[in-house]
Amino acid sequence: MGSNGACATCGRKLIDKKSMERGFGPVCYEKYLKAKQQEDFERNQITVYEALGE
Ligand SMILES: [Zn+2]
Repeated sequence: MGSNGACATCGRKLIDKKSMERGFGPVCYEKYLKAKQQEDFERNQITVYEALGE
């Protein structure tokens, strides 16, 4: 992740070390995680259907 000290999503300056490591502010990181979880969930759903189809 690019750690230029600004949030990758909204461009706000990151003040704490963890946010800098992530490259997201706390709020944007949560949104990012939720989007990622949703993506994984949908991918798993497809996998289940593929498994049932065999
Ligand atoms: Zn942000």
